[in-house]
Amino acid sequence: MTKNIAVIRGDGIGPEIVQQALRVLDRVAALYGHTFQYTDVDMGGCAIDKWGDPLPQEMLEKCLQSDSVLLGAVGGDKWNDLPAQMRPEKGLLRLRAGMGVYSNNRPAKIWPQLAEASPLKKSVVDKGIDFIIVRELIGGIYFGEHKTEGEPGQQVATDLLAYHESEIERIGRIGFETARKRGGRLCSVEKSNVLDSSRLWKKVMHRLAEQYPDVQLSDMFVDNCAMQIVRDPSQFDVIVTENMFGDILSDEASMITGSIGMIPSSSLGATSCGIYEPIHGSAPDIAGRDEANPVGAILSAAMMLRYSFDMSEEAQAIERAVSDYLDTGCRTADIMSGTMTLVGCSRCGEIIEGFIRKG
Ligand code: NAD
Repeated sequence: MTKNIAVIRGDGIGPEIVQQALRVLDRVAALYGHTFQYTDVDMGGCAIDKWGDPLPQEMLEKCLQSDSVLLGAVGGDKWNDLPAQMRPEKGLLRLRAGMGVYSNNRPAKIWPQLAEASPLKKSVVDKGIDFIIVRELIGGIYFGEHKTEGEPGQQVATDLLAYHESEIERIGRIGFETARKRGGRLCSVEKSNVLDSSRLWKKVMHRLAEQYPDVQLSDMFVDNCAMQIVRDPSQFDVIVTENMFGDILSDEASMITGSIGMIPSSSLGATSCGIYEPIHGSAPDIAGRDEANPVGAILSAAMMLRYSFDMSEEAQAIERAVSDYLDTGCRTADIMSGTMTLVGCSRCGEIIEGFIRKG
């Protein structure tokens, strides 16, 4: 199969970790007889420096014409004082909106080899952590009207949280479909004891449930969910929730699995063309030092193979290679402990590449 992948290396550690993901993809291509063509796309601070725009239209076009986008990370202190429209992160928001990706999917999975890196008690971790948060990405309070009115000292600030039934239904379907491909359990998270938008959310989820009799739907208030994720994360299979709740809960979920450097994500809309990126930022504090953990980027490439290219076997080959790498006792600095062997970003990628084989 031939696939055209738009590659956004971005800023900070972005180029280093993306390089490792590409070497792993090249190995998969050679082994399984695929051709992956890469088209470089400038986005973020590097695009501001080069083009005076965090995502020039022609760069967005390249992404729209691709089969999927692989992204490192964007941002850094150098561009922090620019006006909001010119900040690197604006490029990311425009990319998501331009590609119409309304669903962000983040797995929270603990690798047995890294169990001790979790801040949770061993008795909790031992029950297993393996769930996905499906977060609505382009609606809700982050995209509602924001305004501040009145005289200083008497000001009132408002942020509008609105959801259309159609927006809830399309993200709900992703939740049900994801649960169907996993353990068949979907937890819809909202705040329907207080918010109208949540009451509508709950109504739509239950209406949809009639079309998915094989999926077991449950409801949970967001404050309770925040507690349950640290009390007993083994209870979850798939969580579906709105934009702001998902933003907060997915960061909490990433913490309980150990390192931010290990976690991939996918963002998908109505087509199979998605955006795949590790959940961390550009880590300017370690950029250019060959210290970054590339596993989140490598596993993002695996998610791309599974969810956009229908290459489950190839995705599994990458995930197995990551597990084999962890078994060697090699660790990048962020997950380093006692008796392990410290490796850099490129060595980590090299070891994982070496473990890629047909199942
Ligand atoms: P960050 O995720 O970049 O870094 C937080 C901490 O985690 C740092 O100590 C960093 O060294 C460490 N870290 C992150 N990824 C790592 C990896 N792969 N390996 C080892 N250690 C890793 O978050 P931040 O410091 O809040 O943000 C830095 C910049 O990134 C900011 O400009 C921010 O706006 C941007 N950012 C971008 C994205 C994105 O591109 N999707 C997401 C979040 C933040």
